[in-house]
Amino acid sequence: MKNLSDKSIVLSSYSFFLALAAVFAAVAVIFSSPALRMTEEEAARLADSGAVKSKPTLTVIIDAGHGGEDGGAVAADGTCEKDINLEIARRLYLILTSYGIDCRMTRDDDIMLSDGEGGTKKMRDLKRRIAATEGGGCIFLSIHQNKFPDESCRGTQIYYSKNAPESQKLASDLQNAVKTYLQPDNKRQIKPAGSEIFVLDRCTVPAVLAECGFLSNPGELSLLKTEDYQKKLCCVIAFSVAGFLLDGPAPGPS
Ligand SMILES: [Zn+2]
Repeated sequence: MKNLSDKSIVLSSYSFFLALAAVFAAVAVIFSSPALRMTEEEAARLADSGAVKSKPTLTVIIDAGHGGEDGGAVAADGTCEKDINLEIARRLYLILTSYGIDCRMTRDDDIMLSDGEGGTKKMRDLKRRIAATEGGGCIFLSIHQNKFPDESCRGTQIYYSKNAPESQKLASDLQNAVKTYLQPDNKRQIKPAGSEIFVLDRCTVPAVLAECGFLSNPGELSLLKTEDYQKKLCCVIAFSVAGFLLDGPAPGPS
């Protein structure tokens, strides 16, 4: 099975350029108006029209963090992180697949991913998320929301796995795109994940985790709950992922 460090992987640059151009166009359309004019359904119709035909080699594993009895962070108004994670993951899946990028979701429902075998239920859940990357040929993108006692904290924070060198580039692309297109006041820098972020610590393919925003910040919470903001965020993420796939794998250590 191919993986990103295999130099034999050749992306179809020309056809994928069309996909990237379409993503650029979608971002331009969406950010050119206060009202979102392109819906995900319209984006899908555009792809079906034949304007965009491509299928990059790599699969994007979209991981909606938490689920089921594991709600993740909970906002003061009772909003559960797991629900926003899933909404964003579903939107991202729709946008990326609309442009010919192969995607899989670790969960597409309000469930934990536990199979009844040994270990704690939470640990089994995390291991099954990582298992989705086994065999390589993919990148791993985990979607989460942040929470902190200081309510003033806000802004997207991207973490990356230290196990594959390409992770840092993907994280940097994502963090920079968020700053450029969505959060000009965001001064956050990407951070390497330690053992406290299990999925990134154990993942061997290029892997990043996006803490999309802070549920503890009332303003950001309000935004994160809206369809419009989620769509904008997903367009920015899709833009970065498409650019990363177009660039191809960074050279690994020799
Ligand atoms: Zn989380």
